[in-house]
Amino acid sequence: MSGDVLVRTLLALIGVATAMLAQPAAAQAGLAGTPLATCIARVLPGDTPATVLRAPGRFDCTTPQTDFGPGDYWVLSAPIATSTSKRHIRVRIGSLWQERLTLHTVYADGAVATTATDSTTVSRHVQLGAIVEFAPPWRAAPVTRLLWRVDGSANTRGIIFGQRIADAQESAHANTTMAAIYSAFAGLAIAFLIYNLSLWGALRHRFQLTYCAMVLALLAYAASSSGALAWAFPGIDNNDRMRINYATLGLGASMAIVFARAFFEPRVFSGWLGRTTWVAAVLLGISGFCFAALSHINMPVADRIASIIFLFGLTVTIPILWNAWTRGSSYLWLFSLGWAAPVLFAGARILSALGLYQSNFWLDNSTVFSLAFEALVSSIAIAYRVQMLSRERDEALASETAARLLADADPLTGLLNRRAFLAQSIGRRGIQTLHVIDIDHFKAVNETLGHDGGDEVLRVFARTLRQAIPTGAVVARIGGEEFAIVLDADIALEADRILAALRAARMPFDLTVTSSIGSCSGSLDTELDWKRLYRSADRALFEAKTAGRDRARRAAPLTPDPPIASAA
Ligand code: GH3
Ligand code: MG
Ligand code: MG
Repeated sequence: MSGDVLVRTLLALIGVATAMLAQPAAAQAGLAGTPLATCIARVLPGDTPATVLRAPGRFDCTTPQTDFGPGDYWVLSAPIATSTSKRHIRVRIGSLWQERLTLHTVYADGAVATTATDSTTVSRHVQLGAIVEFAPPWRAAPVTRLLWRVDGSANTRGIIFGQRIADAQESAHANTTMAAIYSAFAGLAIAFLIYNLSLWGALRHRFQLTYCAMVLALLAYAASSSGALAWAFPGIDNNDRMRINYATLGLGASMAIVFARAFFEPRVFSGWLGRTTWVAAVLLGISGFCFAALSHINMPVADRIASIIFLFGLTVTIPILWNAWTRGSSYLWLFSLGWAAPVLFAGARILSALGLYQSNFWLDNSTVFSLAFEALVSSIAIAYRVQMLSRERDEALASETAARLLADADPLTGLLNRRAFLAQSIGRRGIQTLHVIDIDHFKAVNETLGHDGGDEVLRVFARTLRQAIPTGAVVARIGGEEFAIVLDADIALEADRILAALRAARMPFDLTVTSSIGSCSGSLDTELDWKRLYRSADRALFEAKTAGRDRARRAAPLTPDPPIASAA
């Protein structure tokens, strides 16, 4: 199989898998006890538990539950084994969308115990893992059958699912396990939140904030979908808890897309994909709230719409991964790794649903594991991304420094150019000395050596000059064969010694090259100071030239302007 086909197949698999995961209302597993087979019958006018129990022929044990559609139903369990029914039982089912849920427990002595709940009172029975648990009263006679009545079942995922008989110990064990799993997830998520928020404080990258928003939404989703919300607020309507599931998962998915957008290189999202991902992010973001509103009118339709939006949002990851692959994103492998857990778990769920794979603890709790893995890998991805960004920044800084050095330098001699010289000199504190150095009869040098030879003389001259000045002095080539030095006036630098060094420099063809210097001291705070100082030094230079060249002249130090006279 070529790489291309492999990737296409993988992406198609992800699409199928994400479709399987797009089930916001599915209860989390907190499976404990012995599973029970069930049969379904519609509620007819005048039905009582007694009449229904006397007519077992009314029950359909083969049709898949969801084929019945929304409505009111009786759900009858298979006969319960004596070994199971002797204990003080806990009847556990996955929490689903319904208006009323009633459990009739039938005992061997003919007694029937009834526990009735509506969507609000059922919340007191919700256990961790979003399991609705009833504890029928204990009798000496064992339990033989269970009969549920479900009124106003939305039946989008079934009328009743995950029905099991457990005892108090199994129930407590399931709750403890779920508490451990969810608190581990919550701890992890909160740690990631704090870590990324504080990192954002230092680095201010947008994807760090979108990551935090995503983790926050997933944390809220985990709290509501696990049933922990019902423990915290027992008065909550269980259907409202599921509305919160839709809203938080929608927000989380929306933030995941916004995160991907901010995280990947912009080229991944250029063109139609950019627009499509925004549409998906907005739709996902509002889907939960639309569901919450619409579900008051028609839950199955609201659920269908929300599921389609989810499917759309999740399939958008396929072109995202595709573009990241074809456009050479550096982050593809991390993003794919983050998706690997949901994909693998969804694949295992498909196999398990097809009866090809035995469901187990990990698979039952795959949603929370996937979320934890996703959050973990995303956090690593952020660290990687931040590392890349800081490397890019360091490189940019280095090349910026190089560019600045290049812009400041005179290309022939490597000394500062006139502009950089002025920038570094004007504003120097205290009295400064300016030396202006001009090569004597340079025209003649050019005529003797040619222009290239003249250039070489300039280079040697510059090198000699640089070696002759003390540290802290600024030296530049400010004109054709004119150089300048600025340094603090209290640092001794004899012009004659510079002249001697320059004269002694070994020039091409052993040519002797001399120069003249004009110097002057004064303040150099402003541009005006510079003009004055330069004019004086240049005049001194002119004197040196007219006096015969190869010598230095110094102008009288400039006195600062007297301060504007105050009344003495
Ligand atoms: P003086 O002693 O009075 O300074 O005489 P001079 O010949 O040095 O002065 P002038 O200013 O008349 O001539 C300067 C010459 O320097 C003219 C120009 O061709 C030459 N020159 C300017 N820039 C360069 C350069 O980058 N390379 C070379 N080879 N020559 C240059
Ligand atoms: Mg000259
Ligand atoms: Mg000149």
